[in-house]
Amino acid sequence: MTVQCDTGCCDLHTHTTASDGSDTARELVKLAADAGLRAIGVTDHDTVAGLKDAWQAGIEYGVEIIKGVELSVLHPCGNMHLLGYFVDEESPQLKEVLKRVQEARSRRNPKILEKLKGLGMEIDIDELEEMAQGGQIGRPHIARAMVKHGYVKSISDAFSYYLKNGGPAYVPKSILTPEDAIEAVHLSGALAVLAHPFSLNFRTGKQLEKWVAEWKEMGLDGIECYYSEHGKDLTELCLGLCKKYDLVVTGGSDYHGKAKPHIRLGKGRGNLCVPYKCVEELRKRYESRS
Ligand code: AMP
Ligand code: ZN
Ligand code: FE
Ligand code: FE
Repeated sequence: MTVQCDTGCCDLHTHTTASDGSDTARELVKLAADAGLRAIGVTDHDTVAGLKDAWQAGIEYGVEIIKGVELSVLHPCGNMHLLGYFVDEESPQLKEVLKRVQEARSRRNPKILEKLKGLGMEIDIDELEEMAQGGQIGRPHIARAMVKHGYVKSISDAFSYYLKNGGPAYVPKSILTPEDAIEAVHLSGALAVLAHPFSLNFRTGKQLEKWVAEWKEMGLDGIECYYSEHGKDLTELCLGLCKKYDLVVTGGSDYHGKAKPHIRLGKGRGNLCVPYKCVEELRKRYESRS
């Protein structure tokens, strides 16, 4: 769904090489400046390692940086991701949770490679480490290696045939319940926002509402309503839930650079424009807490 931004656009969901994006934090911020974005949220998967560079580059390029993180959460139906905004990357509580999540990831990657080996696709962990350049290794890196070895034609085939949830090479990763994740975000002083609700695979709007009401009780602060996969109906459903449960509206492209070439910074699949008002509302909520 396209919205008009009178006061400038922002993009509150982006990834860097600290996780599975292909641009460094500095490259990402430069791209945001070139695209005329007023603000970006830097929200790497389970790490805050890119935030310092992003912040510094934000000062140099004149782009407002909202320090963020994207946590994977255990959910019975689909992929639940929780975004944290205005995180304090030095928070000992957040560091502790991220360490546990990163360890779970490190245990998971060899298990995925083992499964692939059983399916006749051999990939060495060293190769993934080199590709990740010290960042968090995730399924997109494995998918890229599968393409490189000629095991599949594309990243999307790697996911559809093998790596997707429930696929033959799938290994679950999350160790955080929604309550743990919301608490971890709050302990770092940040706001907790439900990322891209479409990935929860809910059957009806009522089902989504039931979950949102439960998470609101746990302290949820907002919902990522503007997202390229969200059609008009889902966007409106999410905006309605924000109003009903007093949640902040956010939005973003989920930019990953070359790792997801069809997604453009600020524009998503082409139809996105997240109004800067989202940043103002987020900040207002954040300041009323601290
Ligand atoms: P992980 O954190 O290792 O579970 O991997 C999650 C990443 O894989 C996220 O960036 C997702 O967007 C990406 N991903 C999930 N499904 C697909 C898909 N079908 N095609 C490309 N990337 C995907
Ligand atoms: Zn990702
Ligand atoms: Fe996500
Ligand atoms: Fe993301």
